[in-house]
Amino acid sequence: MTRPTYVYDLAALATHAAAVRAALPERVELLYAVKANPDPGMLRTLAATVDGFEAASRGELRHLAAVLPGRRVAAFAGPGKTDADLSAALAADVHRVHVESAAELHRLAALARAAGRTVDVLLRVNLPVATPGAVLVMGGQASPFGLDPPEAVRLAADPPHGVRVRGVHAHLASGLDAPTAAGVAREVTDWAVRQVRAEEVNVGGGMAVDYRRPEHRFDWPSYGRLLGEVCDAHPTVRLRIEPGRAVAVYCGSYVTEVIDVKRSRGQWFVIVAGGTHHLRTPAAKGHSQPFVVVPQGGGGPRTDGGPVTVVGQLCTPKDVLARDAESGPIAVGDLLVFGMAGAYAWNISHRDFLLHDPPDFTTGDPLAVARNWGR
Ligand SMILES: *Cc1c(COP(=O)(O)O)cnc(C)c1O
Repeated sequence: MTRPTYVYDLAALATHAAAVRAALPERVELLYAVKANPDPGMLRTLAATVDGFEAASRGELRHLAAVLPGRRVAAFAGPGKTDADLSAALAADVHRVHVESAAELHRLAALARAAGRTVDVLLRVNLPVATPGAVLVMGGQASPFGLDPPEAVRLAADPPHGVRVRGVHAHLASGLDAPTAAGVAREVTDWAVRQVRAEEVNVGGGMAVDYRRPEHRFDWPSYGRLLGEVCDAHPTVRLRIEPGRAVAVYCGSYVTEVIDVKRSRGQWFVIVAGGTHHLRTPAAKGHSQPFVVVPQGGGGPRTDGGPVTVVGQLCTPKDVLARDAESGPIAVGDLLVFGMAGAYAWNISHRDFLLHDPPDFTTGDPLAVARNWGR
């Protein structure tokens, strides 16, 4: 039996990233948030299109240096940066350090002075901006992320020697549709220019991804047009975005085989090889991962075509990949191709739980991989 396999469609990723880039005004820089998926093939593919990469840990800095040697990292971010992390950012000469607190700014300044350097920073600010419909909210309320606005204003007006405050970073929520995300960008930029005379504004990521409607994608052309208006209102400001999920999610699939089907108290269960220790996304977000069935024509047990709950091989009721999914009949030996597994999927999974084998990885068209399964 072939192991469950992640399939990354790098050609689709290249096409999608190019469409995202083309939808944005030229003046807006597009960074990719590496934490969404640090797969080397994906990073190399994106390197041709994006303006830079955002690393959110020292591990991601190291990884980028190994995968894309010689490419300057655009941004180094994340809460709880140690002196070792900040020193690594200085050593790597990252373009901008995103600072999360006053203490962090002072430690970074001291390290820069000791190295005889001046480092360019953006202050991450927790602005009270309306984010209707957001899935995760990181700002506008008490939060471990970023500075309160008055403190950011004070630090920008009188920064410690060794740092140059170039502007503002804000990543306030995720799951935003295009008008809402553009409205946030507008408010953040207006504030940054007015309050701290920002030359640069990074308005974060968090563009919506709808797992229930895979074909319903973030409206990049509208977002680009609205960002163009923000640029026109602030002709000297360099605007930047740093999406992860909405760039990477569609190019990944998880292909696996049905081991068993059974009925329990009137409900159909489909048990597949692997599970949420490979693909934690549906457990983490509480959704059903969308999938298609590739029948293999086996003569074994099959469901009657009614709704099924798809589970994996873990001994926990949380190991659910899809619940009450309408799929048509599913037989033992059939393949399920789970889509939207290109972001926050393998890399957020508790891979050692039960010590099952890890998945395999390949590139290409997931349906072609399914057609050649086991050959
Ligand atoms: C996670 C993160 C992103 C990317 O968010 P997506 O929802 O994947 O677009 C961007 N910026 C910061 C600061 C983040 O923490």
